[in-house]
Order: sequence, then structure tokens, then C-alpha cells
Amino acid sequence: MRITCVGGGPAGLYFAVLAKLTDPTREITVLERDRAGVTYGWGVVFWDDLLDDLFRYDPVSAARIWAAAYKWDEYEVRAAGKPVTHLGGYGFSLGRHKLLEILGERARELGVVVRYEDELTDPSALPPADLIVACDGAGSRLRDRHAEHFGAAVETGRNKYIWLGTPHVFRTFTFGFERTEAGWIWYHAYPFADGASTFIVECTPETWTGLGLGRLDSAAGNARLQEIFKNHLDGRPLDDAGRGWLNFRRVTAERWDHGNVVLMGDAAHTTHFAIGSGTKLAMQDAMALADAVADGFADSAALAAALEQYEHRRKVALAPLQRAAHASSAWFERMPEYAELPAKRFSYALSDRRGEYPAWRYLLHMSTQGTVPRTMLRWTLSARRWHRARRRPARHLSAAVPTG
Ligand SMILES: Cc1cc2nc3c(=O)[nH]c(=O)nc-3n(C[C@H](O)[C@H](O)[C@H](O)COP(=O)(O)OP(=O)(O)OC[C@H]3O[C@@H](n4cnc5c(N)ncnc54)[C@H](O)[C@@H]3O)c2cc1C
Repeated sequence: MRITCVGGGPAGLYFAVLAKLTDPTREITVLERDRAGVTYGWGVVFWDDLLDDLFRYDPVSAARIWAAAYKWDEYEVRAAGKPVTHLGGYGFSLGRHKLLEILGERARELGVVVRYEDELTDPSALPPADLIVACDGAGSRLRDRHAEHFGAAVETGRNKYIWLGTPHVFRTFTFGFERTEAGWIWYHAYPFADGASTFIVECTPETWTGLGLGRLDSAAGNARLQEIFKNHLDGRPLDDAGRGWLNFRRVTAERWDHGNVVLMGDAAHTTHFAIGSGTKLAMQDAMALADAVADGFADSAALAAALEQYEHRRKVALAPLQRAAHASSAWFERMPEYAELPAKRFSYALSDRRGEYPAWRYLLHMSTQGTVPRTMLRWTLSARRWHRARRRPARHLSAAVPTG
């Protein structure tokens, strides 16, 4: 079977790995327009649920991801004019470039051909394949070529955001809010490597216009943000890697397959960064697609059935997360309405921005702000992290981590 993945992001590379693991005789090619090691964005966050899945599907790459991941152990909320508060929880983060390096290396080890600097410009020029996976991201050219068939739609978020990196290492996942003369502006930041943190800045369009951020070039814009967030960055610089300010684009598609072409990851659906799950969902798409075509397909009807099964399984799984992402991004669009709440109530509102928490979460939040209960909560959650890690297939852990 010949499979071509257009796009060497997390979805494309991970699907290539899984499809090759299922059947090593498959000829699998990944086309990626960027050079190896070059990518947009900074670190991404994820949680135990993704790690559990990764260890189940390919313990070798999972162990490398686990070993490389930065482990943080609570959320910190720093809002101007309020004392610092904390939210219970732990998670992981990893540089996007590191994740792609691990997946690219694993794919090549298994015999996948990864062709970097190979941009698909004319989809009709693709070499023949039994399955073409369109995993070319939110702006998918393959999807847009048949936009009507796929029923693709793009909804643009109201707030402005910019995805920055900084050498300042935040202690843990941090939300920071500053009040300016033009309104509130905030960031979502987390360390993802020694010497590097992701720093996503967001504000309403009114604040963005009022601060003149649209009129500033990259260097002046970064300098302006550094000044606004000087109390948070310890004097360290910000880098926008040339991407500039954006509005989040929520992509949906009514159908995910067209003949032997199937959408996967951001090409099929995007999920607002406020719940930090787009990479997870893209990789879980790859797992579901690999399962759906595991036994191969005798003809086009069998392929259509397999792709239908994949799409259905993923749409069912995505629905609650899409709702959560929508509620979460809407909270940030209304953020100024919450700004006058006292510190603990403000951070609780931030944590329950999906509006789903039972009452005991409020009581737990209020009672764990002091040093002793907070430390106990962190220890308890940390024990849970390591307990869960120990249940995963540990025999692969040391063997799989490349040395040097
Ligand atoms: C600000 C921000 C923060 C985020 N933070 C998180 C987070 O913390 N956690 C998380 O899980 N997710 C996060 N995400 C979402 C995550 O980045 C995406 O959901 C994820 O990268 C989707 O993976 P993908 O493989 O589907 O697409 P992509 O990662 O976009 O990969 C697509 C690949 O296709 C290539 N490509 C495109 N067109 C062509 C072409 N014509 N020919 C060849 N190659 C092509 C691109 O170069 C790219 O490498 C965030 C997103 C944003 C915007």
C-alpha cells in the first residue's frame, strides 16, 4: 500500500509512524514544505491523557516525548493589583520543534520517507497513492481545493493574539494580566525547555487598537509588550519569530474524505489554544486513522467505509472538547468583565471558564491558597503523575531514549 501524507506536522508524522508500525511493507512518504528542524510556534502543552494514548500506540516515541517533556506542577495567576493565586493541576510541555524532531526521527527509523523542503503546490501533480492524507494544517491547500465537497468553514475569533517565545523560564504554567490605558491585556505562558518559555499574548481588538499594536513593526511591538509585562519577564526579551498578530481561525469541515483523500488534524478542525489541545487532537486523529486502515482495504468501497469509521469516531470524541474550547475562548473575550473580582474568585472564574466544575472545586480552590495546603495539593498531584507514569510500559523507557 502506498500512502502519501501532505504535511509533516504532528498529525502527518505520527500517522506515518503508526501506519508503518502496523505494516512495515507499506510505502509511506511525508511531504513537508519546511526544512528539517524549522517550524512555527514555540512550546505546546499536553496532559496525561495524551501520554497514555502515546504509550499505547508507540511506546518508543512516547518514551522519548516523556523524557524530553518539561513537567510543571500547578498554575499561577498573576493579575495586576491582586495577590498571586494558584490553581491545582499539573501538565507537560514540549517545544514544537523537539516534538517534530522526535517524530521525524522515529518515522525515518521505521523506513518512512520524509521529504523536507517539498511543498505541494499543485495537488493534481501528486504521485499516485492508495491513500493521500491531507495533514497540511489549518490553511490546508488540499482541503481548500475541494472546499465545497468538504463543507469547510472558517470562523474568525474576536480577540487578537500573538505566539511569542522568551528565554525567561516561568516557574510553572502562568496566566498574567496587566491593565493598560487601553484596557486589559494578558498572556498564557509556560516553560517548555531549559531556557525557553512560550508566551502567548491576547487582548480584545479595542485594546489592540488602543495600544497601537497594529501599527508597530515586530521589534517595536515586542518592545512594547516587554514594557507592559516587565514585572513578569524579569527583563528578558520576547521573540515573535516573524508570525505577528493573528485572530484565531476555527476551521470545521462537514466531510473529511473525498475519494482517497482524507483530512486529519488542523486541516479538518482547529481548536482554540485556550484549552491547549490542538496537537493532542491531531495526534489522536492519527491514531484513529491508523486503526481504521489497519487491515488495508480491498477496493474504494472498503476505503470509504474505513474513512467513514475514522471520521465518525473522531467527530464524537471532538465534540465535547470543541464545546470546551468555545466556552474557554469566549471567557477570554469577556475577560474585562471579570477583572474586578477579588483575586481568589478571579482565578477560580479563570479555571472554571468552561462553567463545568462542581461546587467542591470552588471549596478546594479557596482552601488551598495558603502555603501548607497548596504544597500538600501539589505533592498529592505530583504523586498521581508518577503513579500514572509507572503504570505505562516502563520497559521501553530507558531503551528508547537516544543517548548523546
Ligand atoms: C497560539 C497557539 C498555541 C497553541 N498551543 C497548543 C498547545 O499548547 N497544545 C496543543 O496541543 N496544541 C496547541 N496549539 C495547536 C497546535 O499547534 C495545532 O493544533 C497542531 O500543530 C496541529 O497539527 P497538524 O499536524 O494538524 O498541523 P500543523 O502542525 O499545522 O502541521 C502542518 C504541516 O504541514 C506543512 N504544510 C502545509 N502546507 C503544505 C504543503 N502545501 N506542502 C507540504 N507541507 C505543507 C506545514 O509546514 C506544517 O509543518 C496551539 C496553536 C496556536 C495557534
